[in-house]
This record gives sequence, C-alpha cells and structure tokens, in this order.
Amino acid sequence: MTEKETKNWEKFFRVTNSDEFDYAKFDPDATPGLSDREEAKAIQAVNTERMHDLQERLYAENKQALLIVLQALDTGGKDGAIRTIFGPLNPQGVQVTSFKVPSAQELAHDYLWRIHQHTPPKGMIGIFNRSHYEDVLVVKVHRLIDEKVVRKRYAQINAFEDHLQENGVKILKFHLCISRDEQRKRLQQRLDKPDKHWKFSRNDLAERARWDEYVEAYQAMLRNCSPASAPWYVIPANKKWYRNAIISQIVADTLAKMDPQFPPPEEGLDKIVIPE
Ligand code: ADP
Repeated sequence: MTEKETKNWEKFFRVTNSDEFDYAKFDPDATPGLSDREEAKAIQAVNTERMHDLQERLYAENKQALLIVLQALDTGGKDGAIRTIFGPLNPQGVQVTSFKVPSAQELAHDYLWRIHQHTPPKGMIGIFNRSHYEDVLVVKVHRLIDEKVVRKRYAQINAFEDHLQENGVKILKFHLCISRDEQRKRLQQRLDKPDKHWKFSRNDLAERARWDEYVEAYQAMLRNCSPASAPWYVIPANKKWYRNAIISQIVADTLAKMDPQFPPPEEGLDKIVIPE
C-alpha cells in the first residue's frame, strides 16, 4: 500500500472486484493513512465545515438528495458515528431513520415498503441506522427466508438502489467493521457503566454467538450488492476516531462531487428597498 493510496480513502475502502472481497482478511484495527487521534480529529473538523457548507447548498438547491446507509454488527458504532459525524450539521437538513424489528403492518408489505417511505426527499441528507440490508443479514442468519430468496433480494436491492439513484438520490453505504474481541469489550463496557446499561440487551449475546454466520452473511451481501454505481465501503471501526475521520472524508467528497448550487437569485434584487 503506497502513501498515496492510503490517503485516497474513497478508493481504498470501496468494495471493488467484489467477488474477491474477503472479510477474514480485513483488519478492523487498521488505520492506514492516519498516524493518530489528533490527526484524525483535525481531518474531521475540516470535513465538518465542508459538509456544513455543502449541506446548506444541497438544501437551497432542492434538486438532489444523499442517502447514507450504515450497517454493522451489534456495538459496531452506528449511533456514535451518527452523533459525532452528523451531529454538527443543520438538523433541518438531516433525517435519521432507525430500522428495528418490523411491525405487523410492515411485515404485511414487501420488505422495501417501509424503506422507500424514509428515503430522503430532495435537498435532504438521509441516514439509515440499519436498512433494507437487514433483510439479507439478520433474516438470512435466522433462516427466515431460504437462500434462493436471499439471492433474489440481492438483485432486487441493486435494482431498487439504481432506481433511487436514477431519480436524484445518491447512495453511500458504509459497513462499520469491528472485531469479535472489540465487540466483547464494548458489551462489557455496557455492563460496567451504569449509564450504558440501557444499551445492554441479552439478545446481543445470542446474536454474538452467531458471529461467524453474520460474517458469512455480510461477506455474501458485500460481494453481491457492490455494483460500481452503489458500492459498499468497509470501514475499519475498532478505533472510533479513525472511523469518524474516514466516513466524514468520504461523505464530504461525495457532497462536493454532487456539486449542489444555490438557485440563481430573482432578477432585480439590487433595486429592492426594504421599507422603514
Ligand atoms: P440497534 O441495535 O440498531 O441500536 P436495537 O437494539 O433496537 O437497535 O435493535 C434493532 C433490531 O432490529 C436488531 O436486532 C436488528 O437486527 C433488528 N431488525 C432490523 N430490521 C430487521 C428486519 N428487517 N427483520 C428482522 N429484524 C430486524
């Protein structure tokens, strides 16, 4: 890995040659291109400013939207990433949706029904805390659908995302990748710290016991749902400062590429006199 490559995080963490993506070889502890927390914080601060300015333009332009999809195993850091990276943005321009176990009404519809209702409208940044990908992850691991249906869903999801992107919703997908040992530490912290008890769920232990099955489901999903038009980014997430810096960089660069413009001013503004 050259120095130049490690600074080009967008390219570096993008899943390409998806057939070969090997989850077991991915190092969640890695911090390529950044030496320490201080450097990461400085990069994040710059990106916060950039995102703030670009978000205002996106909102004013009102022609395109950005959808950010976050997926991780339990304790992977989705909540912390949302709070730290997107907290400083104007809340009027951001909409966060957390997808839980589907309700009876949601289950009565196809799995994308509840998702489509929460895609961001023009001018907005939408953040999905979990997403339609749960329907090829937890649902696959628990064998609620068979492999044939899982494969069909990969194709349906790719088509759905194409449809969104062709209709002005740019999609960025981040998998926050933590190690099994890091998950143990984070679960232990939830037990140790009284103000974290509310986050502890015995169910997390049952899911942890299925770690290998989740890894297999993630790997299959990453391989099958990373077309060049909507690739996954797999982010090493054991170190929160690294995770935050990299995601903020990729989001800010993407917004810059979307190049939102303030609408042209009405004619004759220079002649208007505000009455006393
Ligand atoms: P989080 O872990 O995201 O902070 P919760 O502790 O409320 O939030 O967990 C949400 C749960 O909902 C997770 O266990 C997740 O796997 C589950 N879930 C989300 N979407 C689906 C789905 N489509 N089918 C089944 N379970 C789902």
